[in-house]
Amino acid sequence: MKIGTTHLFVPGPTTVPEVVRRAMNIPMEDHRAPDLPDLVLDLLADLRRVFRLREGRVLLYPGSGTGAWEAAITNCLDRGDRVLMARHGHFSHLWVEMARRLGLDVVCHDVAWGEGVPVETFEQALRADPSIKAVFVTHNETATGVTSDVRAVRRAMDAAGSDALLCVDGVSSIGSLDFRQDDWGVDVAVAGSQKGFMLPAGLAMLGVSEKALAAAERTTTERSYFAFREMIAANEVGYFPYTPPMPLLHGLRASLDRLFEEGMDDVVARHHRLGEGVRQGVKAWGLELCATSPRWYSDTVTAVRLPGGVDGALVCKIAYHRYRTSFGGGLGQVAGKVFRIGHLGDVNEVSCLGALAAAEMALLDAGVPVEAGSGVAAAQAYYRQALLAEEEAA
Ligand code: PLP
Repeated sequence: MKIGTTHLFVPGPTTVPEVVRRAMNIPMEDHRAPDLPDLVLDLLADLRRVFRLREGRVLLYPGSGTGAWEAAITNCLDRGDRVLMARHGHFSHLWVEMARRLGLDVVCHDVAWGEGVPVETFEQALRADPSIKAVFVTHNETATGVTSDVRAVRRAMDAAGSDALLCVDGVSSIGSLDFRQDDWGVDVAVAGSQKGFMLPAGLAMLGVSEKALAAAERTTTERSYFAFREMIAANEVGYFPYTPPMPLLHGLRASLDRLFEEGMDDVVARHHRLGEGVRQGVKAWGLELCATSPRWYSDTVTAVRLPGGVDGALVCKIAYHRYRTSFGGGLGQVAGKVFRIGHLGDVNEVSCLGALAAAEMALLDAGVPVEAGSGVAAAQAYYRQALLAEEEAA
C-alpha cells in the first residue's frame, strides 16, 4: 500500500483545493429552486472579472472545453464560412478538425510545433482575403507549452481592415495567464473548469462579445444543446435550460472567491514566477523546451524535449508508478518526444519543486543523464530570489 498524496502535474485536470472540494460536497439540490438565481447570477457576473469582459456575456454549459469549441462554432458561424486558423500543436489541430467537420472552410496555416500563432502571416492572409469570417487562436497550446500573442492578432486584424470574429481557445490560459477579452477585442473566448479554475471537468465556459452575440442571432447552423439563445433566456433569470451540475456551481463559487482573494493580477504573477522556476530547472538539467523561443514560453505548462532515444511515455510511466506523480505525455506529432509539467491552478513554489524532484528521478531512471538535484536547486535559487525581491518591493 502506498501512503501519502498522489501528485498531479498534468496541465489539467489540476489539483482541486480542499476549500473547493468541500464546497462541492452538498446534498443534491433543486435546480429550479426559487433561490437558485442568487447563486447563478453572481457566478455569471463574477466570471466576467476573470475573462475581463465588460460588454457581452459569459455562458456556462455542462460540458468540457471541446463542447465550448463546438458552441462557439455552431452559434457564431454558418456552414461554408471561411475561417483562418493555425495548427501548431494537438489542441489547435483538434480545433481545425472540428471546424472542418462542422462544415467551415478552414484556411489552415501549419506552423512548427513549438512556435505560436504566426501573426504576420495572418495579417497577409486577411489582407488577401476579405471573405474570412473568423480568426481562431489557441492562446495557450497545452501540447507544446506555447503561449501566443492574442493582442497582436487583434492588431493584425485591425491593420488588415478585417471585421472577422476573433475566437480564442483559453482553456489552459483563462484564470491563470493574463487574459483580457475586451481589451484584446476577443469575440468568443472558450474555457473549461478543470484547469485554472481548479475544479473537476464538467463546465464549459464562453465569454461572448456583443458582436458575436449578434452573429449568433443571424447564423443558421444547426444547434440545439449549445444554442446561445435558450441559454441566455434561462440565464437572464438565473436558471439553465436543462439540469446544471449543482456541485460544480458551488465549487465554482469557491474557486472564484479564491481567485479574487489572491487578486487576478497576482494569480498571473504567481503563474509567471512558478513557470519561470520550472524553466530554470529544465535549463539546469541541460534539456530543451519544446517552445522554441522565450516569446512563446507558457507559464501554465512546460513541455520538455527528451534527448534522442528516450521515450517520454516511459518517463511518465516511471513517474506515475514509482513516484506517484502524474506528468503529461506528448500528444500527436510530439508523442514520445516530450513530457509535460503542468504548473497551473492550486500550485506554489514548493509544489513545483516537488514536480521537478519527481521528474529528475524519473528522468534518471529512464536513462536521461541529468544531475540529481540540479533542477530543484536552480528553481529554489530562482524562487528565493524572486520572492525576496517581491517582498522588498511591497
Ligand atoms: N483546448 C486546449 C488548449 C486544451 O488544453 C484542452 C484540453 O486539455 C482542450 C482544448 C479540450 O478541452 P476538454 O478536454 O476540456 O474538452
